[in-house]
Amino acid sequence: MPIFSLVVRLHLRDLARFALLLVLLAAAPTWARPVIYVQPLQPAPDAQALAGVVAGLRAFYPVEVKVLAAVPLPKPAWYPPRQRWRAEKLLDFLSDRMPADGAKVLGLTAADISTTNGTIRDWGVLGLGTLDGKSCVISTFRTTRGVSLSVARQRLAKVAVHEVGHTFDLAHCPSRGCLMEDAMGKVATCDREDDLCPRCRKALAAKGVVVPERVAKPWPSPGAALPK
Ligand SMILES: [Zn+2]
Ligand SMILES: [Zn+2]
Repeated sequence: MPIFSLVVRLHLRDLARFALLLVLLAAAPTWARPVIYVQPLQPAPDAQALAGVVAGLRAFYPVEVKVLAAVPLPKPAWYPPRQRWRAEKLLDFLSDRMPADGAKVLGLTAADISTTNGTIRDWGVLGLGTLDGKSCVISTFRTTRGVSLSVARQRLAKVAVHEVGHTFDLAHCPSRGCLMEDAMGKVATCDREDDLCPRCRKALAAKGVVVPERVAKPWPSPGAALPK
């Protein structure tokens, strides 16, 4: 039956093509969007803080955000004189263990982290990110000062967008209220920050990172929840 077998063969070929199309469609979003891994570092912040960070990154950046299983802070980063963790060593640790399909990795911890700032050998920080690099790290340790838990979580989400901005090659921004403002050692700077300014958006777009015009931010507009 040559005609019958031709029909069956055609159908099988069509089916195979259809299946291939389905596979390609399913894989497309992963190809299109770079992956940012979030690596909780124990002691890690609670699930709601983590959810705020993930929401902030997803809202601003055209990326997939994936959360890794929590791991302890690496011992080589411990700084005994100040009983805290050196952020630049955490960046190395995070880069080394980022999964192969990752574009960036963000470490998230509740422990105090620090780095060298000019002439100050050990300066406590909210976060640290490598300019145009792979890794950044943020901490809740300084976000909780004098504010409710919900404001502290909003601060943390803003710091996450800020540090990932550094990894996309954004430097500090002089525009008041821009998420890339330098905190200058004051966590309260976060409370007036709300969005990336046009200049920072333009710099990101030049790198192929297009921030939506209207971002669904996981925090209220400034003024609505300013801490006393
Ligand atoms: Zn910064
Ligand atoms: Zn800016």
